[in-house]
Amino acid sequence: MNHTAMNHALLLVDLQNDFCPNGALPVAQGDVTIDVANLAIVAAQKARILVIASQDWHPANHLSFADNNPGAVVGERGELAGLAQTWWPVHCVQGTRGAEFHQRLHHEAFDAVIQKSTKHDIDSYSAFFDNGKRAATALDNLLRQRGITRLIIMGLATDYCVKFTVLDALELGYDVQIVEENCRGVNLQPDDSEAALADMVAHRARRIGLADVIAALAHHPA
Ligand SMILES: [Zn+2]
Repeated sequence: MNHTAMNHALLLVDLQNDFCPNGALPVAQGDVTIDVANLAIVAAQKARILVIASQDWHPANHLSFADNNPGAVVGERGELAGLAQTWWPVHCVQGTRGAEFHQRLHHEAFDAVIQKSTKHDIDSYSAFFDNGKRAATALDNLLRQRGITRLIIMGLATDYCVKFTVLDALELGYDVQIVEENCRGVNLQPDDSEAALADMVAHRARRIGLADVIAALAHHPA
């Protein structure tokens, strides 16, 4: 039994309408990730590994939205819950079309969906914890129950939710493979995504190409 080939999960970060072109917080080429994610889903299903998606899921009164803070300007920084906070446009509000997974995404294949940013007074970039690490989502428990030790991660946005999900996964002891080519960033500053990737790699995430992911999963003992 090849132990290193077992116990993988595919983790798709925030592949939602509002992060794609015409969405409320569009990431350049965000929708390019959808078809590639579908390829990864097919490979994961064939290998019978867990497919998990995170979903940004804000209440309408979320205080990370500039509109809910008098004087706050989108893209500028302030403070929320005692933490530095970038102010965002209203996005991924629970129950809206913008919060839905992209229509082309094979979401029926998901084994689990992890919703985050559900409390109005603190933001959650990571799929594991809120930004203050005051509360955890169900993700870590789910992975531990299933014996998952390696995560293959891709999605939106490189410089926020992907980055913090990867860093938390590494800190929790998971082996992380980041599929850089299927991530896209917000890039409030032009090099934010590159810096985020460098940060992930410095913390021992391993960059992996999609072709290598698919090849590795094809050899995964089902
Ligand atoms: Zn959000």
